[in-house]
Amino acid sequence: MIYQQTGIMIRQTNYSETSKILTVLTEAGEQVPLMARGFNKPKSPFVVLRQGFNEFLFTYNRFKGIGTLNDVDVTERFKVLNGDFDLYTHASYIMEVIVRALEEEMAYPSYYRLLTTGFKLLDEKNERYSVTALVLIKMLPAYGGELNVDHCAICGQQDFKNYSHYSFKYHSVICNRCLDEETLERAVPVSNKALYFSLYFKHVKLEDVKSIQISEDVGKALLKFIEMLYEEYSGVYFKSKKLIIK
Ligand SMILES: [Zn+2]
Repeated sequence: MIYQQTGIMIRQTNYSETSKILTVLTEAGEQVPLMARGFNKPKSPFVVLRQGFNEFLFTYNRFKGIGTLNDVDVTERFKVLNGDFDLYTHASYIMEVIVRALEEEMAYPSYYRLLTTGFKLLDEKNERYSVTALVLIKMLPAYGGELNVDHCAICGQQDFKNYSHYSFKYHSVICNRCLDEETLERAVPVSNKALYFSLYFKHVKLEDVKSIQISEDVGKALLKFIEMLYEEYSGVYFKSKKLIIK
């Protein structure tokens, strides 16, 4: 059967000297393995797949198992992102966080939307650390993590202007009026703005995020805070993370 689906290539492995097996994450959030014959040949029709992160329309034959790729057409070029090393490393990080949460035989359309939204925001030169933090916040539940910033764990107040620490004893934000010897145990100081934006990103609908204009310092503090939650709750190490300039 012949299929045509929009998707992003998330993996490639060598099959033979000239052919590769690609894995495509489709718009429907499914992983499709495809044999790309002649991929490494100089005049291969699949040469566009070697040019960084882009979205394609894939035409392929598939019955069961690995399909055969017939044709690819670019549907969205992330030109700015592909031409900027810094942006590219953020895109790689976003991709790794999303791809590692995928499970075989399951469909994750929301992950696909998150991936393309992250790429688009980077490509449009929004503040990169915040874009990466947004994706990590949305993916945190998939890694068993919690982000409790809706109210202070001690007094219950929702006055985010007073937020000052994140506690791994209460697994929640705590405010500056509730700090004492007991509450400070396993509490980490986090900038108030970073805590505020983490709250905003947690609740915002992805389709409502058109642009992110936050200062780079706040973006960095926000990403650092979210990475701390990943370390605490998931223990997963993302290898592309080390390329991000902190
Ligand atoms: Zn409080």
